[in-house]
Amino acid sequence: MIKIAARVARVKPSPTLATTARAKELKAQGRQIIPLSAGEPDFDTPEFIKQAAIAAMAAGKTKYTPVPGTPELKSAIVSKIKRDYGMEITQEQVLVSNGGKHAIYNALAATVEQGDEVIIPAPYWVSYPDMVKVCDGTPVIVECGQHQSFKMTPEQLEQAITPNTKWLMLNSPSNPTGAVYSADELQALAEVLRRHTHVYVMSDDIYEHLCYGETRFVSLISVAPDLVDRVLIQNGLSKAYSMTGWRVGYAVGQPDLIKAMSKLQSQSTSNVCSIAQAAAVEALNGDQSFMNEWVAEFDKRRQLMVDGMNSINGLSCLMPNGAFYVYVSCEGVIGKTTPDGSEIKSDLDLAHYLLEDAGVAVVGGTAFGLSPFFRASYALSEEDIKSACEKISEAVKNLR
Ligand code: PLP
Repeated sequence: MIKIAARVARVKPSPTLATTARAKELKAQGRQIIPLSAGEPDFDTPEFIKQAAIAAMAAGKTKYTPVPGTPELKSAIVSKIKRDYGMEITQEQVLVSNGGKHAIYNALAATVEQGDEVIIPAPYWVSYPDMVKVCDGTPVIVECGQHQSFKMTPEQLEQAITPNTKWLMLNSPSNPTGAVYSADELQALAEVLRRHTHVYVMSDDIYEHLCYGETRFVSLISVAPDLVDRVLIQNGLSKAYSMTGWRVGYAVGQPDLIKAMSKLQSQSTSNVCSIAQAAAVEALNGDQSFMNEWVAEFDKRRQLMVDGMNSINGLSCLMPNGAFYVYVSCEGVIGKTTPDGSEIKSDLDLAHYLLEDAGVAVVGGTAFGLSPFFRASYALSEEDIKSACEKISEAVKNLR
């Protein structure tokens, strides 16, 4: 058999995708499975966006486009950045990639070398550490527990920085906790960053539109515009426009960095699908009001999920302010035994038990770097959320 490169051994397959795959397998066997493991909105892509894709095909927009994106899409992103971040940028500062994931990968591949450290607050989005490792870098995980609302403090940032630090990964609203940094909290982190001019920040804003109640999304760059040369905005259309399958993401940053990322993309995937890019233009330039309805819907589901989880003995969670996840502490059930006699030693064991026994798919916190927790997504109907909470409650009651 061909020898597989060492970089493959350094990474593990995405655990969220693995859970989803097992859930699908059980479903195919005829089991009823409620996928609280979902990382995507259950809404359909809005009709006007789909129509733009159909029109693009009919108009023959089916050929290669410039690698970093069509001028139309880059122009739509320039306008979006002005509208939502209040920042003037040029098209040279934009790279359109195959999803936000690809944009982040391009940035790490273009900048990280052996010996470089990347600070990742935990719990984190599962792909960050593995992408850093693929790029020969060293992830520096900083635990940010529930007692600090899963957010990094300036003291923790200061302590984690070394002469080898290249990037800080900052994700607000967060996957998996739904935590959202306030302007003051970002300002405090910016103070630390001002003292360490060799540290760059990847600001993963992909959940920016999904904030609830009084909470407003604030980006690091808006509170600290003086750091503009050191911040790379990562964003995409997957979450806010329910376009996960279309694979459109983008990065906004300094032209030299964007050029380097684009060069790598030119020798790997080339441009994003021309039809998806045309649809993304319409998404960004079109009427955004549907989002208010989605946010209101998510907000109701959020309340339902938090109430449901907190009513289960042994489980508890904070009220998240953004994204569509709750990060549930399961400390109270660790050490218990399932009806068939296996001990729940970890959150992964609990996730396995809930999937196989209760037919509810959640992702164990081990995957996100902070245990014992599990992530439950509320991007599902109210009916499914209620039913999932009942099934989990029943399964937890059966533990001894
Ligand atoms: N960043 C975060 C925090 C995410 O949760 C995701 C998707 O789950 C992404 C980036 C990438 O999304 P996509 O590649 O679909 O744009």
